[in-house]
Amino acid sequence: MVGVAVLLLSIALSPWLAAAPRLAAPAQSSATSPPSHAVVRSPTSPPAPPVGYTLTPAQRARALAYAHAQYRDYFLAVALALAIYFLFWVLQVGAVLRRRARKISPRLFVQCLIVTPLLLGAAALVEWPLDYHSSFVLGHRFGLSTESFGAWLADWGKSLALELIAAIFLVWVFYLLVRRSPRRGWFYFWCLTLPLGLCIALVEPYVIEPLFFKFTPLEQKHPVLVERIEQMLHHAGLRIPPSRIFEMDASAKTRELNAYVSGLGPSKRVVVWNTTLHALSADEVLEVLGHETGHYVLHHIVKEFIWDELVALVFFWLGFRVFEWALARWGPQTGLEGTGDVASLPLVLLILALLVFFSDPVVNAISRHYEHQADKFALQVTEGVVPNPNAAEAQAFQVLGERDLSDPDPSPFIRFWLYSHPPIADRIRFAETYRPASTAPAR
Ligand SMILES: [Zn+2]
Repeated sequence: MVGVAVLLLSIALSPWLAAAPRLAAPAQSSATSPPSHAVVRSPTSPPAPPVGYTLTPAQRARALAYAHAQYRDYFLAVALALAIYFLFWVLQVGAVLRRRARKISPRLFVQCLIVTPLLLGAAALVEWPLDYHSSFVLGHRFGLSTESFGAWLADWGKSLALELIAAIFLVWVFYLLVRRSPRRGWFYFWCLTLPLGLCIALVEPYVIEPLFFKFTPLEQKHPVLVERIEQMLHHAGLRIPPSRIFEMDASAKTRELNAYVSGLGPSKRVVVWNTTLHALSADEVLEVLGHETGHYVLHHIVKEFIWDELVALVFFWLGFRVFEWALARWGPQTGLEGTGDVASLPLVLLILALLVFFSDPVVNAISRHYEHQADKFALQVTEGVVPNPNAAEAQAFQVLGERDLSDPDPSPFIRFWLYSHPPIADRIRFAETYRPASTAPAR
């Protein structure tokens, strides 16, 4: 699990924390592959028999080992976060810090400025070994990561710094609102997550993403590909300016393949990892971009944001009731003075971690719905532009699965709890068998 402040942010900002939709696929570089001209598949040509997701026994064993290690780390991270906040709460760490902070200043903001980074920083340090294992050790053990320890540590530090800055502000606003309105403060806080989430989505491509990767307009190195993308978009009556399609230097850190959509309004963009461009044929890249374009033109970022905010509203309401109940029952014994007391931050984080954990299946179900729509959109939008969209998308997923070590057969529970995308085998089966009714993409 990434730093603890993400817990605080993740409900409000889940669409962006969960951004980076996974897609992709092999063999020849799109830069060197000859531009294949639009060939409409003959409607009478028989569809190829579906073959599904196929792995050699060795590939399968590796993918399963990697997936199971990731699942284990995820649940361990949740348990660890809960344990840390619980201990901070019952050991009255928050109360001790708040007492010290009060001596320095009576102002709430100053108290938040002292208590929040100390609590979250301490939790992040305790969580560091598990972070290191799940994102550095496993990545190298399974040959997915190309990042040096120094670069990884720098990224870890940058993420933590961003989380702490965001957390100080959010914690301050939360207690400010709860003090002003003990009954409805939680609701006003939720209201604030709406403009805040939109603002973060707007500036993320300019402010946050460049901290971790370099982005260049795709047309700089892949003009032929961009030409075909324009052709695909034009074919569907859509327009995304080439200046909004970027290549990301993912290979500096990873061998995994991916593409995603981020930003909002004027900052909205499609990003393809350079690893994806190197591993896939031009047709397969077009399927990947067709999928990402689907998120873009079907307004998935905003739609998912609205759904996730509605989920957050329910969970915030529930969380605040639990917060009040816990304070009434154990507040005095644990040194807490009420809902507006900054010392209650460990309890707030404990409840928030539980809420985030239990909201994961709901948020992921929403995401899977839109990911499936985007898969369908890719097949529709590339019809008549890619000679055989079904084969190209299925092959793209096949390569993505192989390269990213996707679990070939996640259990129903794991799918339900953790999968923001349909399992790769399901996506391949769909890609192989779906027949668009018309070439006009559904909006
Ligand atoms: Zn996606």
